Amino acid sequence: MLTRLIYYSQGTDKLDMEGIKQILKKSSSNNANLGITGSLYFNETFFLQILEGGRTEVSKLYTKISQDTRHKNMVIVDVSSISSRSFSDWAMLYLNETNLNKNDILKYTSNLPMDLNKMTSENILEFVLHAKKRSNQVSS
Ligand code: FAD
Repeated sequence: MLTRLIYYSQGTDKLDMEGIKQILKKSSSNNANLGITGSLYFNETFFLQILEGGRTEVSKLYTKISQDTRHKNMVIVDVSSISSRSFSDWAMLYLNETNLNKNDILKYTSNLPMDLNKMTSENILEFVLHAKKRSNQVSS
């Protein structure tokens, strides 16, 4: 059963840009082996990750990530069965604020800086898909 899990968490002081690079490197190899795709958004304050794949694989990976001391206070936004992937070309697409402006963020929340606790799961997903679109626009 193809499943999508969305969560957010706070980076800890054990994390720097080198740490993010390591996480992405690990994610690329591990996720490809597990048939997992997704995205990792980081904005210096929080991580917002989408994991897509088999239900068992996504559950196991989430449990492993939850034990990582480079972040804390994980909050699950949504777990859904899906019919197709949004990140089929990406073992883990890294997204950040670079290509987003204030108006992009205000489409999905009335709070600046963005407060994920006050956003619906639909708006959080739409926000990530918008960030992905922006990243495609810039890289293409
Ligand atoms: P190894 O790399 O051999 O690691 C062994 C152990 O050391 C693991 O328990 C790991 O958690 C821990 N570890 C390794 N480096 C550090 C470090 N610098 N600081 C603290 N603990 C460390 N992994 C994925 O495979 N896919 C993902 O999509 C993914 N997303 C992540 C998202 C976030 C926000 C974070 C913080 C981590 C993510 N990780 C992801 C990393 C994951 O938590 C594990 O570190 C990684 O999967 C372990 O890989 P491994 O089993 O090959 O073990």
